[in-house]
Amino acid sequence: MTDLHPFIAGLPKAELHVHHVGSASPRIVAELAAHHPDSKVPTDPEALADYFTFTDFAHFIDVYLSVVDLIRTPEDVRLLTFEVARDMARQNIRYAELTVTPFSSTRRGIPEQGFMEAIEDARKAAEAELGVVLRWTFDIPGEAGLEAAEETTRLAVGLRPEGLVAFGLGGPEIGVPRPQFKPYFDRAIAEGLHSVPHAGETTGPQTIWDALNDLRAERIGHGTSATRDQRLLDHLAEHRIPLEVCPTSNIATRAVTDLDLHPVKEMVDAGVLVTINSDDPPMFGTDLNNEYGVAARLLGLDERGLAALAKNSVEASYLDPAGKRALATEIDTYTTNWLERTGR
Ligand SMILES: [Zn+2]
Repeated sequence: MTDLHPFIAGLPKAELHVHHVGSASPRIVAELAAHHPDSKVPTDPEALADYFTFTDFAHFIDVYLSVVDLIRTPEDVRLLTFEVARDMARQNIRYAELTVTPFSSTRRGIPEQGFMEAIEDARKAAEAELGVVLRWTFDIPGEAGLEAAEETTRLAVGLRPEGLVAFGLGGPEIGVPRPQFKPYFDRAIAEGLHSVPHAGETTGPQTIWDALNDLRAERIGHGTSATRDQRLLDHLAEHRIPLEVCPTSNIATRAVTDLDLHPVKEMVDAGVLVTINSDDPPMFGTDLNNEYGVAARLLGLDERGLAALAKNSVEASYLDPAGKRALATEIDTYTTNWLERTGR
């Protein structure tokens, strides 16, 4: 068996489902905590590593919220965003659509204009200094209800930052029906934003149908339960609606009980355009390279298969056509050179 990890590490990649706060690694959290000594988050790396060892999902939510509490000023937002891009650069992620939840920050008193300037400033610096192209998905935290939906839509449409390409919906699905968010998605779509709600992560295929029919989803966050409905799988394949699959996250949240039971192979076999993503990587003890390793195992892929998988994300992205061609070419060139060098 070839060790695919060195190939994956160097493979140029795009990521489409990854959360802003959820990407805060222990290194970044330590930096933020040092700025806010009154916080209960430990600042030394060793204590922080323990802090990041989750016992269960409730613990994950606690840690997530304590990281949210460290983001209090536009400077914190800028630091988090740029440092997340630095962690991406280390993995050869060349393009990412980062899911940002501006409501969590503006509700906590960060000035909205300052927030937008901070993410845009970090985006430009990441592109210039790290070679990582960032775009934004603004998502509604579903658990915060229609007030959050109204505020997120107002921020997306009214203050639309240059890097904003899509509009999403996250948070729990149980007890948070998708159709109630239709008017907000209608407004965002009318402004040219793409619709990318989470759906079918912890609920059944009907939630995915709701996302498609009511929220006019162009891509589905997770879509794990799609394999329970053959007609839905056929629909996704026929209309080339991509799924943003995050294998390790699905285990951490118990959406799937065991990695070996993950339905990603069924999705691919049904002809669905599958993209591989990391969701909240440090919080789930993973990163995108690790997720590609998992996908290679579950799908039985070699280097060429992994390169094709990486190109799925480019195709499913909202990068402009010239940018898509350039990144796809980069993936092909890297793969060809790798295979020549290793004589495979
Ligand atoms: Zn997510």
